[in-house]
Amino acid sequence: MAEAARKAFVCGHPIAHSRSPKIHGYWLKHYGLAGSYEAVDVAPDEFADFAASLRKGGYTGGNVTIPHKEAAFRAVDCRDAAAEEIGAVNTLWVEDARLCGSNTDAYGFAANLDDLAPGWSTSPGAAVVLGAGGAARAVLCALKQRGFSDIRIVNRTLVRAQALALEFGPIFSAHELDAANTLLGDAMLLVNTTSLGMHGEAELPVDLDRLHDHALVTDIVYVPLETPLLAAARKRGLKAVDGLGMLLHQAVPGFEKWFGIRPQVTSSLRDLIAGDLVAKAA
Ligand code: NAP
Repeated sequence: MAEAARKAFVCGHPIAHSRSPKIHGYWLKHYGLAGSYEAVDVAPDEFADFAASLRKGGYTGGNVTIPHKEAAFRAVDCRDAAAEEIGAVNTLWVEDARLCGSNTDAYGFAANLDDLAPGWSTSPGAAVVLGAGGAARAVLCALKQRGFSDIRIVNRTLVRAQALALEFGPIFSAHELDAANTLLGDAMLLVNTTSLGMHGEAELPVDLDRLHDHALVTDIVYVPLETPLLAAARKRGLKAVDGLGMLLHQAVPGFEKWFGIRPQVTSSLRDLIAGDLVAKAA
C-alpha cells in the first residue's frame, strides 16, 4: 500500500505572517514531493492540547514559533542537545508515538554566516551580541560552538544579560546598552538580536566607527531585510549579513526529518522570500 503523503505544520499565535509555509512549500514543489506544510494558529491556552494531539499521528512534525517555543520545550518527551542547550524547541517530530523536539536556530545562524561570510569563525575572538531574549540564546550557543572565547552580551535590561552570562559560563559577560561602543573596539563580530531596527522600531545606538575594518556585522532581524544597522555597516565599508538566511537555514533540518530530503538554500529560494518581504512591506 502506498504511504500517505506526509503532513507538517508551523504553529504560533498569530501565525499569518509566517514565511515558513512559503519556504517548505517551495522545497516540496522543487523536490516533487507529495507532502504538505500548513500554518496552524494555536492560542497559548490551546498549546498543551495541540502538542498532546501530535502523538496520535496526523502530522509527521512541524515548526513552533512565538509564543510557544518554551511551552514546546516542556511538552516534548525527548529533546536533542541543541534544544537542551538553548532551552526552547522550534522543531517537532513524532517518533514511535513520542513527541521529540530540537532547536535549529543556532544551526541556522551559523549556516547563514558560513554561506555568506565564509571564514567568519576561522579565528574566533571577541564578539558583541546585542540582546538577551529568546533568539540571543541560540546565537550565544552558536558562537560558543564555533570557539568564540569572549562573548559580550549587551542588553537594555542588564539582569537578563547577567542571567544568560551566568547560565552559559565564564566566556560570557553582561553589559548595559550604554557600554556597547566601548566593547566594540577589539571585537571582530557584532550581532544584533534585539528587535531594534525592525520596521517601526527605533535604531540601535551603536557607533560602528569603533569596529575593526575587518569586523563582520550581522542582524538577525529580517524585516526590513536591510536594517539601519546593516546599512550603516556597509556605508562604513564593513562586511554585513542580513537575517533572512538564518530563517532559511533553520528550516533545513526540519524538512529533512519530515520529508526525507535535505533541502538546499538557494538564491532562487532567497529571492522568493525576499520578494515576499518587500511585497508585504509595500
Ligand atoms: P525577545 O525574546 O522578545 O527579545 C527581544 C530583545 O530585544 C531583548 O533583548 C530586548 O531587551 C530587546 N529590545 C526590545 N525593544 C528594545 C528597545 N526599545 N531598546 C533596547 N532593546 C530592546 O525576541 P526574540 O525572540 O529574541 O527576537 C528578537 C528579534 O530576532 C525579532 O526581531 C525576531 O523577528 C528576530 N528573529 C529572527 C530570526 C531569524 O531566523 N532571522 C529568528 C528568531 C528571531 P530587554 O531584555 O531589555 O527587553
